[in-house]
Amino acid sequence: MIDKIKKLEKISTQLELKPEKRKKWNQSVVSYIDHFLDDFNPNTTFHASEDMGKGILDVPIEEGGKPIEDLLVALKDNVDRISLNPASAGHFGYIPGGGVYTTALADYMAAATNRFSGVYYACPGAVRMENHLIRWMCKMVGYPDTALGNLSSGGSIANLSAISTARDVKNIKARDIEKCVIYLTEQVHHCVQKALRIAGMREAIIRYIPMDNAYKMKATILEQQIVADKKQGLRPFLVVGSAGTTNTGTVDPLDQIGPLAKTHDLWFHVDAAYGGFFMLSPEMKPLFKGIELSDSIAIDPHKGLFLSYGIGALLIKNVKALYQTHRYSASYLQDQIFVEEDPSPADLSPELTRHFRGLRMWLSIQLMGIRPFRAAIEEKVYLCRYFYDQIQTLGFEVGPYPELSTAIFRYIPKKGDPTKFNDKIVELIKQDGRIFFSSTTIDGVYWIRFSVFSFRTHLRHVELALTLLEEIISNEI
Ligand SMILES: *Cc1c(COP(=O)(O)O)cnc(C)c1O
Repeated sequence: MIDKIKKLEKISTQLELKPEKRKKWNQSVVSYIDHFLDDFNPNTTFHASEDMGKGILDVPIEEGGKPIEDLLVALKDNVDRISLNPASAGHFGYIPGGGVYTTALADYMAAATNRFSGVYYACPGAVRMENHLIRWMCKMVGYPDTALGNLSSGGSIANLSAISTARDVKNIKARDIEKCVIYLTEQVHHCVQKALRIAGMREAIIRYIPMDNAYKMKATILEQQIVADKKQGLRPFLVVGSAGTTNTGTVDPLDQIGPLAKTHDLWFHVDAAYGGFFMLSPEMKPLFKGIELSDSIAIDPHKGLFLSYGIGALLIKNVKALYQTHRYSASYLQDQIFVEEDPSPADLSPELTRHFRGLRMWLSIQLMGIRPFRAAIEEKVYLCRYFYDQIQTLGFEVGPYPELSTAIFRYIPKKGDPTKFNDKIVELIKQDGRIFFSSTTIDGVYWIRFSVFSFRTHLRHVELALTLLEEIISNEI
């Protein structure tokens, strides 16, 4: 047996890299990323590919390892250089990300030290750090000191946790679901409907409250509907407001929804995945008036703080409720202790073992301070307003005035189908590769979306987008 163990050990020790190998692989990876950031990123936002990354399947999984150079080539050709490059400055589609580099440094450290951030007992410092970050966000939105929450993988999971908690706090059992009413607008992010389904509420009644011309929920109709539903013996229990819709960056009238939710005993959840961090700007803050009246908020540091993908957050006032929905114990976890001031992420989320995602947010804002983040957010607001003004001088039609950093626009050609025409614009821009737009349909109308939210996007990129659009228009009409 000892012989066998020693033989196995000889091979298994390969998992612990020798210092020389570690240094070599470090260098290879760092130079690969330097090349990606210095040479590639500024130029290409969309790179068409015939085989759509299929070549990655030509790298078989085998008993032996392969040289790092070969693997980096496979990665470059099949993953990192084709289709959308969301890290680029010309990315105006969807809600752009960006990925400030400090995220990568922190993730490298989190992975190398592999601290267990899920429970206080295993790494109290990590848990304290994450809770500290959550409390900082709670303060930003005007929540009381007792509020807390959880750092999630993104906004979708934060929304799901909030909805599951609302369901339990309102004591909704399976037999009640068909009578439960949830109030949304059609502009709510689809992950909310998805979360309702996952949370077992597929049969609940969803009321889509009409919106005004700026796509804001009409609070008076919300109230009429709640009253009517109560009269019918139904159970209104949840209203979801958006603080920055994905389509148009619209903020619902939170200060009107909040008091209604309170009067009628509804859980008030705000999806601020996109818009939340605009609150860092004193100039933008008044737009969010009433957000502090909500029971829970989803907010995405991987959008508003420009961190790399993989960090969202749920903020909640009733921490005990979050705990009651998500905590479960097991005999093999009996050594754990419950610390009231710093509860463990594992007790406030569906996860146990998890990425130490707080470190990327902590390191980024500690190293650089809040100032550049705030400036970047305000810059994006003004870039969007500038685009909104300029695009009209080129003859484009626009949607409502952008409240955040997203606008919709389209060109009405003298003849022919506007949808086809605008779709062609999106396609031509994509083929050019320097700029990327996505499109949407609102009330049956096709719109091109302009969303500026990459930290790398500056005035010259917006000018380039305008120039390209001007060229296309003059060629096509
Ligand atoms: C992006 C977004 C979400 C979903 O968040 P993920 O982090 O992508 O899971 C939810 N709501 C809004 C308004 C968003 O913009």
